[in-house]
Parts: sequence; C-alpha cells; structure tokens
Amino acid sequence: MIHKDHPRYESLKLRTKVVDAYKRGILADSGMIAHGRGETFDYLLGEETTSNAKKAVKAAAAALLLANKPIISVNGNTAALVPCEIVKLADHLNARIEINLFYRTPERVALIEEVLKDAGAKNILGTDHEEKALIEGLEGPRASSSKEGIYIADTVLVPLEDGDRAEALVKSGKLLITIDLNPLSRTAKTANITIVDNIVRAIPNLIDTVKELGNAQPTALHQIVKSFDNQENIMESLKIILEKHIDKVKP
Ligand code: ATP
Ligand code: MG
Repeated sequence: MIHKDHPRYESLKLRTKVVDAYKRGILADSGMIAHGRGETFDYLLGEETTSNAKKAVKAAAAALLLANKPIISVNGNTAALVPCEIVKLADHLNARIEINLFYRTPERVALIEEVLKDAGAKNILGTDHEEKALIEGLEGPRASSSKEGIYIADTVLVPLEDGDRAEALVKSGKLLITIDLNPLSRTAKTANITIVDNIVRAIPNLIDTVKELGNAQPTALHQIVKSFDNQENIMESLKIILEKHIDKVKP
C-alpha cells in the first residue's frame, strides 16, 4: 500500500497498475520497460502537463475533429492505464478503436478486447476474427492492420507507438498524432503532432479540448492545425527539461 503523502505517490500508483496489467497478461514484459522509459521523461518534465503539451493537445483535438475517418490505436500500456478514457474520447469523436500490439498474441488481443469492452467499447477493430490489410514498409505481423480501421483511416491517434510503425503510417499519407513522453523518440520526431505528456493526463485533456472545440468552424480548426509546428513544440519540451534542472546542477 502506497501512502498518499509519498512524493512519488501518483507515479508509484501508475507503476502498480502497469505491473498488475503484466500479471494479468494484458501487457508484455517489454511494456513494463517502455513504461520505465516514459517515467524517466515524466520525472524530467516535472510530472505535469506543460504549456507546449497543451498546445499539442489543441492541435490534436482540432485534427481529430476535422478527420473523416479518425481512429484510436490501443496497445497494452494504453489498455492498462486509460481504457475508460479511450472509450470516452472515441465516443466524442465518433472514432473507431483498433487493437494494435507490438508483441501480438491471440491471448493478449482477447484480454485487451475484454478490458475495452468492460470500459464500454462496442465495436473494436484489430481482433483476430476480421480481415487484415498490410501497411506498406513493414515486415511480418507488425504490418497487419484492420482493413476497416487504421488501413483506411485518414487520421490516427496512436499513443506510445514504435518508431518503425510511425514512419510507415506517415509515409502512407496518414496524419499521425502520438502521445509520447520521450520528445526524442523516433515516433515523437516522425509524427505530425506529438503530445509530450503522460497518457494518463493527455487523454483526459484531449477529451476536454475536443468538447471545447466541438462547435468550432472547420476553418478555425484548420487554422489551429496549420499553425502548429511539431519540431518547434519538441524543442520547447527539451528546453523545459533543461530549464527545470539546470539550476540544480550549477555549482
Ligand atoms: P521509438 O521506436 O519511437 O524510437 P522506443 O523504441 O524508444 O521509441 P517504444 O518502446 O517503441 O520506445 O515506445 C514506448 C514509448 O512510449 C517511449 O518513448 C516512452 O517514453 C513512451 N511512454 C511510456 N509510457 C508512457 C506514458 N505513460 N505516457 C506517455 N508516453 C509513454
Ligand atoms: Mg521502438
């Protein structure tokens, strides 16, 4: 039992969730390592939503509202940490949800499907009983995507994605939105919009912003997306990391 007064209470609570998900088979062992990498950057960023993460969330919300075929891609970490929030966001956007796993096994797909169904999701793509289409530029099982889902989507929200897949999705012409605490990961640098924040804060912020922008005119939404510069935003995250810590290391 972690005491609420512990300075790392929130972080330790998330760690417990991730370990539990691993024990239940929802998460691969490497999913715990990926979480550890995320924790490192969260620590460096002060474990709070930065002003530039808010900017990225606004651009992401605008892009998702403008999309004709938006989709939210879910992996083990996402299912472990924010299943209800993902379903809520998908409902607000009228977006589909697709299970997309780096270490795919039928058992893990079935478990994640169950987690999402328990969270209220109705029509889940990326399961094993549907027709698949191959994403160009990827090899083996990782090239597979749902024919009705990511394959035909114009805008893909894919938190915690691997760099290879992110590159292939952008090359195939999709607008790629990611959530990634490491501002220097290949995915963060490749995506059109990178929200450098913890998924547990980013998804609720996205829900709120989608609601706020829900009645905005398409021209206004286009303007928000157009004025967003991902490279600049990533630079701002790096500056925040430096500025937060530089005083502490000065002699
Ligand atoms: P890339 O392939 O893009 O270079 P990687 O191989 O370093 O990235 P992956 O394991 O492919 O990393 O993806 C995991 C990514 O998710 C990491 O960049 C990590 O910082 C990030 N991450 C982990 N947990 C969270 C979280 N809770 N919220 C946001 N991002 C997270
Ligand atoms: Mg990777």
